Amino acid sequence: MTRSSGKPMKVLWSELLPYEFKERLSACPVVYLPLGICEPHGQISAFGLDTLKAEWLCVEAAKRVGGIVAPSLGYHIHESGYHARWLEEVVGEEQAHMTGMPPHVLLHFFLYQLRAFVGAGFQSIVILTGHGGGNELDLRRVSDAFSRETGVAIIVSTDAQLVRDQYQGDHAGRYEISQLMFLRPELIDFSQLWRQTEVGAGGRLALGEDATEASGEQGARIMEACLAQLCEVVTKQSASVQHKENLIKPRLLSYEETENIWQQAKFMGPWNTSLPHADQKTVSETSQWKFFEYHKL
Ligand SMILES: [Zn+2]
Repeated sequence: MTRSSGKPMKVLWSELLPYEFKERLSACPVVYLPLGICEPHGQISAFGLDTLKAEWLCVEAAKRVGGIVAPSLGYHIHESGYHARWLEEVVGEEQAHMTGMPPHVLLHFFLYQLRAFVGAGFQSIVILTGHGGGNELDLRRVSDAFSRETGVAIIVSTDAQLVRDQYQGDHAGRYEISQLMFLRPELIDFSQLWRQTEVGAGGRLALGEDATEASGEQGARIMEACLAQLCEVVTKQSASVQHKENLIKPRLLSYEETENIWQQAKFMGPWNTSLPHADQKTVSETSQWKFFEYHKL
């Protein structure tokens, strides 16, 4: 990697000048998309935990192994399918304050993001989502349909999947709260824990049972392990796309071509995020989440 002397390395697409973009693109034609959401992680944590960890991993990986980081997508699939019962259990009838999107809107937009990346000249795409638990399977389905049509290599992973042999990912428990304590310690405030019993404050808001065991040191180990693994898979993918016989010619797909890919992905059956899991209890008739249990669009 070349680095202009004395200046800090810039890897965000939004901060690059055209000549800088071209330089980074030709050195390593990889784009990273950090995906997250605003959703409750207890009374003690900032809403954007999932987005913040994905952003950090993408930025640090781009600095280490090259590539450019696309603007983050801080909206994600929530409420629908298996999320509905989960929300009933961990948020109940309180306000969740989320940036949730239904599958048919988020995934359609996501497909057009892939289109934009190829149109901008990238040969390979890394999708890193901090919000997981099944959403990534639908992102992968859309990505696979896009790859089949264009030849572009796409990695789809959650942060927890990168280190699944070392850590058990969670929601707002020791794993996730540690991650944010390392990244942005000022965004975790254990002194607010009492609010889960305050009337009208929203209750426990999906805080994991072992959240109080979290620490910045554990977060550092988790994030470094995620980053090492991310760098390894990106390097492997970059090496394979840079073989001459695998090179694709990036181009901007027409809307019709893109819609064809959408139809291919869509007609493979219901989205994973559209249905409850087989072992889940049904959502109570009176719950605010009942409406989202089966998503049919
Ligand atoms: Zn999270």
